[in-house]
Amino acid sequence: MQIARIALDVPLPRLFDYRLADGGVEAVGRLATVPFSKGTKIGVVVAVQDHSDQPEDKLKTAELIDGLAALPADWIALCEFCARYYQHPLGQVMAFALPPLLRKGKQPRNLKQKVGAGETAPTSHAATPDQQMAIAAITNAQGFQTFLLHGVTGSGKTEVYLQAIDAVLAAGGQALMLVPEIALTPQLESRVSARFPGAQVVSAHSGVADAARARAFLAAQDGRADIVLGTRLSVFMPLPRLKLIVVDEEHDASFKQQEGLRYSARDVAIFRAKQRGVPIVLGSATPSLETFHHATSGRHTKLDLPLRAVATSMPTVLTVDTRKQKLQDGLSQELIDAISERLRRGEQSLLFLNRRGYAPVLACPACGWISHCRRCAANMVVHLADRRLRCHHCGLENAIPNACPDCGNLDIQPFGRGTQRLEAKLVERFPEARILRIDRDSADSPKKWQALLDAIHAGAADILVGTQMLAKGHDFPMLTLVGVVGADAALFAADFRAPERLFSQLMQVGGRSGRAALPGEVLIQTEYPDHPLYQALVAHDYDAFAREQLAEREAAGFPPFTFQALLRAESEALSRALEFLHEAVSRAPTFQEVLRYDPVPMRLVRLKNRERAQLLVESRSRPALQAYLTEWMTQLHTLKTPRDLRWHLDVDPLEY
Ligand code: ADP
Ligand code: ZN
Ligand code: ZN
Repeated sequence: MQIARIALDVPLPRLFDYRLADGGVEAVGRLATVPFSKGTKIGVVVAVQDHSDQPEDKLKTAELIDGLAALPADWIALCEFCARYYQHPLGQVMAFALPPLLRKGKQPRNLKQKVGAGETAPTSHAATPDQQMAIAAITNAQGFQTFLLHGVTGSGKTEVYLQAIDAVLAAGGQALMLVPEIALTPQLESRVSARFPGAQVVSAHSGVADAARARAFLAAQDGRADIVLGTRLSVFMPLPRLKLIVVDEEHDASFKQQEGLRYSARDVAIFRAKQRGVPIVLGSATPSLETFHHATSGRHTKLDLPLRAVATSMPTVLTVDTRKQKLQDGLSQELIDAISERLRRGEQSLLFLNRRGYAPVLACPACGWISHCRRCAANMVVHLADRRLRCHHCGLENAIPNACPDCGNLDIQPFGRGTQRLEAKLVERFPEARILRIDRDSADSPKKWQALLDAIHAGAADILVGTQMLAKGHDFPMLTLVGVVGADAALFAADFRAPERLFSQLMQVGGRSGRAALPGEVLIQTEYPDHPLYQALVAHDYDAFAREQLAEREAAGFPPFTFQALLRAESEALSRALEFLHEAVSRAPTFQEVLRYDPVPMRLVRLKNRERAQLLVESRSRPALQAYLTEWMTQLHTLKTPRDLRWHLDVDPLEY
């Protein structure tokens, strides 16, 4: 008898055996409908064998689903790697990796519909000598090799990717290009398809409708798609002729998924390149410290683009010491003068403030009331534009009260400053200027985001006020001034990655200025002008910053010098979450190379009425940590937990 081992979308780290009604080993990779519990489920046949550990007469029968080609062996192996590495049930990995329609065993209509090819003529540049070297290194790679393409903003990294992809297409291969969440705009899609008019380009991200996503997946799988351009989830696209992977802005946090399968698409992409024996290019102006560390230790090959492709110089970066003056609505005289100057010259300015809303909190000076969220350990943010208080953690919102809910005082006040407040003050100060705010409130859909980008490009704005949304890969030719406001807090944050994030954001946002013919200037308002982070920005010295940070991390035993995993638990009561973690500790194996810390409440202890705690494990050896986690998880899956308790493991966590 033929027994199919099937991966099902259930939270158990095991496969399920079924009799196979028809077909033998060729059933591997096929989707099948199976009876499960009181209903049916659809799963992926992972193996076919002639025996089962279950009593055979108890086995139910699986029905293969017709019309869908078997998923290739390397795709199954990729999912198996993720299941092992992230300690996530294989069936759930596969359910995530498949487009929703296929997961349900359905086929998109109009399967052979054209999947989108460019119409415009190709535009390519003669590569600069640095670009040429990078392109040659990538195209000459023999099999698997990881490149770090470290190039300042505007140095022409995209041009390098495109020329490397060109060579891949000429050799009959497929290319996979991963970009951060926010960077995947119609602009980039059309830039890529315009460049390769004869090629089929498919794009994949969570915003793509179900049918289109399934079509893209199938086009990649049957080899019709030549280029897959997408966000983190496209790392799971089957690509039979894969010859090159590109991860643009590899440092970007959106490559790490923060729920369900907590994978890093960059790391999975590296595994995949290795598995398939192809080169992978990680590109960034501010590489993650992990990647930079691998590139300096020789594990990755470093390719440098130190010069801008077009603009002759990098922007001038200056600090403005705000201890020496009284700020006017949060702005220094230097910054105000610099903005006025840009207005006179008809150039654009950008003010970077990484906090949306009007003010982070509403407070009553009379009794001390502040706008707490009743579901989270956080404050409700004042949104004056629509007169709401909003929790940025859980989304809860109410109207702004007219008086203090506790004492009735009418004079309640917003404290602190967000983008809306900065915008409002700029409107008062520069009534003649056209001011545009760009944050997740003003750009809450891809359509609105694109409309804002178009407006900026069309020169329809004089001053931009925005969050990190503005930091990502966009060219604003008329932008010559970037002002940085309120960045100091991140210097002293509890999270050891905060300086890395701040440096990268400021470098990226600074890189938006002076990208065309006009020179750019960056003014950073700070009370700590001598801080090494700002000094490195002034000197455009990423390497100095990275070396200093890496030395600190090595001394403290932080990643990338150690590998970490977090076990998190949440419940209606903190005590139950902690209890579970203590129980988990009692089941933990003892490994000499693995350090286990005590369970502690999370920093944001309450979220959506649930209280959270976590437990860190750490090792200098990745294999040791992996073996430890595997043993531990087997134990944890057998634990009986209270109904309201949820737990998960986060391997290589980015947030604590
Ligand atoms: P990055 O991705 O490094 O930020 P881009 O690839 O977007 O940089 O290039 C920045 C600008 O320089 C773009 O307008 C691009 O068209 C132009 N560019 C890139 N390479 C060259 C080149 N070799 N010659 C002329 N212009 C170039
Ligand atoms: Zn009050
Ligand atoms: Zn909340």
